[in-house]
Amino acid sequence: METTGDYAQYRDELVAAATAVANSELLSLSGHGNVSIRPAGTDQVYYTAAPTLRGFGAQSVVRLDLSGEVLQGTLPPLSAAAVEMHLAVYRSRPDVGCVLHTHSPAATTFAVAGRPIRAWAEPMVIFGLDGGVPVVPYALRGIAAAKNIRAAMTPGHYAMLLENHGVLTFHESAKQALHVAILVEEAARLGLSAAALGGPKDIPGRPS
Ligand SMILES: [Zn+2]
Repeated sequence: METTGDYAQYRDELVAAATAVANSELLSLSGHGNVSIRPAGTDQVYYTAAPTLRGFGAQSVVRLDLSGEVLQGTLPPLSAAAVEMHLAVYRSRPDVGCVLHTHSPAATTFAVAGRPIRAWAEPMVIFGLDGGVPVVPYALRGIAAAKNIRAAMTPGHYAMLLENHGVLTFHESAKQALHVAILVEEAARLGLSAAALGGPKDIPGRPS
């Protein structure tokens, strides 16, 4: 049984995670993005129901169950559509405790070009991105987008590009999800820079 104390703890964890993203270089000009956490062993999700992660505060935290029913807080219609992406990940992956979505500029460049980020940088291998970052086919955010995300979900993968949209990363903890998001953005920047030199080379011997 969850107590008021638990709520305050997870609410504060979510605000800290959102602040960490806002302080990274991941946000696009609009500051758009959202974060959610699922406390281990529960079927509840805490979500940042705000149009931007800049200046995110505790008053915009919403608690939901995995069916999308709001248990605490207010979910505006635009956020209600976006939260479906997060719930799709949690339903498919019991190991995931945090989902992070941004429009980080370099990775989103690949997403709007419909091009996957391949495993061309060493840190990707170490942090579970050795299969690269696939592109999930475009769908308007909401149920249709969630369906495509679910279809693309495979065990041991921690990131995907949402075609014509942005980036989704997920991991056991908020710290790990943010780290993966940074690695994806870094790999995308390298890919764009290497394009001027004939294009990035895949790491030898990795799955294509
Ligand atoms: Zn978005």
